[in-house]
Amino acid sequence: MDFSAVLRKLDAEAPALDALSDGIWEKAEISYTEKESSRLLAGYLRGQGFETVSGAYGIPTAFTARFGSGSPRIGLLGEFDALSGLSQKAEVFEKCPAGGAAANGHGCGHNLLGTAAAGAAAAVKEFLAREGCSGTVVFYGCPAEENGSGKAFMARAGAFKDLDCALTWHPGVLNRIFSESTLANVLVQFCFHGISSHAGGAPELGRSALDAVELMNVGANYLREHMIDDARIHYAVTNTGGTSPNVVQASADVVYMIRCPESSQVRELSGRVVKIAEGAALMTETTVEHRIIKSCANFISSRVLEGLLYDSFREVPLPEYSREDREYLEKFSATCPKSPEEALRTAAGREASREGRAFLKQRLKDRFWNFIVPWDRDRDDTLIRGSTDVGDASWMCPVAQFYAAAWAPGTPGHSWQATAQGKGKVARAAMLWSAKVLALSACKLLTRPELAAAAREEFAETMKGRTYFPVPPEARPAALAELQA
Ligand SMILES: [Zn+2]
Ligand SMILES: [Zn+2]
Repeated sequence: MDFSAVLRKLDAEAPALDALSDGIWEKAEISYTEKESSRLLAGYLRGQGFETVSGAYGIPTAFTARFGSGSPRIGLLGEFDALSGLSQKAEVFEKCPAGGAAANGHGCGHNLLGTAAAGAAAAVKEFLAREGCSGTVVFYGCPAEENGSGKAFMARAGAFKDLDCALTWHPGVLNRIFSESTLANVLVQFCFHGISSHAGGAPELGRSALDAVELMNVGANYLREHMIDDARIHYAVTNTGGTSPNVVQASADVVYMIRCPESSQVRELSGRVVKIAEGAALMTETTVEHRIIKSCANFISSRVLEGLLYDSFREVPLPEYSREDREYLEKFSATCPKSPEEALRTAAGREASREGRAFLKQRLKDRFWNFIVPWDRDRDDTLIRGSTDVGDASWMCPVAQFYAAAWAPGTPGHSWQATAQGKGKVARAAMLWSAKVLALSACKLLTRPELAAAAREEFAETMKGRTYFPVPPEARPAALAELQA
């Protein structure tokens, strides 16, 4: 089947997509406050003829946009949230916050992510309308990927499970299939309550909640020796109980993130952290209560869908870099903590595919990375020690995702460099390329039912004997600011 009209549609949409992505970059709204970004994306898809539902799954900034009817049902997942503290002027080669040091910025490139997925949905819609074939395309507007695990709450409310397959991508520095598993996690808030008193005049009457937080953190730091290697524990003190040293602090809060390869391990480890909190309360004669803010599942990739994306990689021409683009990329690479060579060496060490590892090792001297990293079906099972809420979608239906080279070699995620490049020509080209890869892959799924069937079969096999742990019922989607006392 000839899919060239799908790619042409995206070329025609490019100016609208650039404007959409820039608009989201400018708003830079963080978890669960993405009112305008969500409105922009939903408005674009409504204009393309989609039926949209705002406030989907009980989350004000989540939405769905649907077109078509019947099977196969293909989902495209889009994110659009920013990060706090990563404000940065665009196209400036040094750290230069645009809106003050604490302001938000798109340091994870989600302006590009959501826009490319929306563009892909528009192209798939046009294909469905033209061909008149059976099938449904659903764009999921997924808020709060950072710190809020929007997709986990959406999954709890029933999202993704009636899909045959779902696809997404993420901006990065290499064009490669996202084959790794990620860590499941849970975010837990511990609130300690003590008794205030004059810290000099009557210290014996005080019971310090801040002491309890400190002791809890010491206990948790000792726990690290006795947990599995791949587990991670991080904490942030969100309430110190005040700023007066001469008052015994009667309240103090700390938020813990606990991560493990599987949700069941997260449960076990967080149970041990709760015991440490209780121990700290006992030592200080304070009381403690805890609540789960959110959780997310590990990512389970589909090799069938990875293969589909990889085929599309090789059918969509890669962006070519002009001399100007190369100069631009080199300038950003020069500001990054690792040189392109060091960064590529690290990437090669983590690559799941043997062929991919060998390929990257041969490219260590390359200063520009507009190539495709080889992937093969026999790739290893590897793990990255981060988390994504795409994990929760991947427990509901077969999901695959890829990275595209939107940033200069060496650019770390969550950095001012990533924010600075978010409106650049290279980032836009990667966004368009990604939209084409997603759209082409989705159209193949619509026209070749055996592909979706193979993905579902693989999914059923992978899920045998595994249990999904949804976000606990007491947790609700909450903006990060609500955690600060
Ligand atoms: Zn991120
Ligand atoms: Zn991200």
